[in-house]
Amino acid sequence: MPRKFFVGGNFKMNGLLADIDRIVDHLNAAKLDPNTEVLISPPAIYLLHVRDRVKNGIEVAAQNCYSEKQGAFTGEISPLQIADSGIPWVIIGHSERRTLFGDIDSVVAGKVKAALEEGLNIILCVGETLEQRDAGETLKVVEHQLDCVKREIEPWGNVAHRIVIAYEPVWAIGTGKVATAGQAQEVHADTRKWLATRVGQKAAEETRIIYGGSVNAKNCVELGAFLLHFSVSVSMGETCSYVCPYAATQPDLDGFLVGGASLKPEFVDIINSHL
Ligand code: PGA
Repeated sequence: MPRKFFVGGNFKMNGLLADIDRIVDHLNAAKLDPNTEVLISPPAIYLLHVRDRVKNGIEVAAQNCYSEKQGAFTGEISPLQIADSGIPWVIIGHSERRTLFGDIDSVVAGKVKAALEEGLNIILCVGETLEQRDAGETLKVVEHQLDCVKREIEPWGNVAHRIVIAYEPVWAIGTGKVATAGQAQEVHADTRKWLATRVGQKAAEETRIIYGGSVNAKNCVELGAFLLHFSVSVSMGETCSYVCPYAATQPDLDGFLVGGASLKPEFVDIINSHL
């Protein structure tokens, strides 16, 4: 079965009630590609409001959760409460959680485990810092982040259909620096290989691997395109290289996780970029 294209909008800690309503109403009225699964993730305080207001088949996600069901954990919300509120998705391991709020790999793994136990679907964020990329450690870092989660949860293969993996290079988030299609494809392909070897072929084929980091209406088309490099020999033995940008779709890119641009009308163009 082909993987359904997936576009998520992570509002982060942005918007007041009137802003959120404007965004939701715009999405409700828009013509959205029926072949794309669409999700929005407002701040926790607006989750129930958005759940009741949103239409057009759009799903709702929490931006974070804790790893316990309930108790003396001031300021946290639990996967049990998210599920009880009819919110089917939660984003876990976002780089802002990892870097600003101490969500180290073991914390992320515990949250994924707890959320899966409550029947939630997960957007699991992974990605390297600029220093790690410059040191040539990108694939190692991403694989390590995935390994940490795998160690903690029940056989991943049993829950693979409930996990979307978001590759979000930390250096590309909110910076305007977007990964090239080739950089994204390399990590996505390696992640799919990781799934095939560490989880199973079925999970590798079915899991959506989406890209996040400064995605907007302009760059999403190119990001989704497979850059076809080819060389031809010309006279005198010289070789010319050509890049044909829109030759085919990136084979391992199954959608986007969008931050800043999800607050703007252009989010609709990103959702429809796969048409
Ligand atoms: P950005 O954020 O699109 O604003 O870079 C992406 C994300 O944090 O998911």
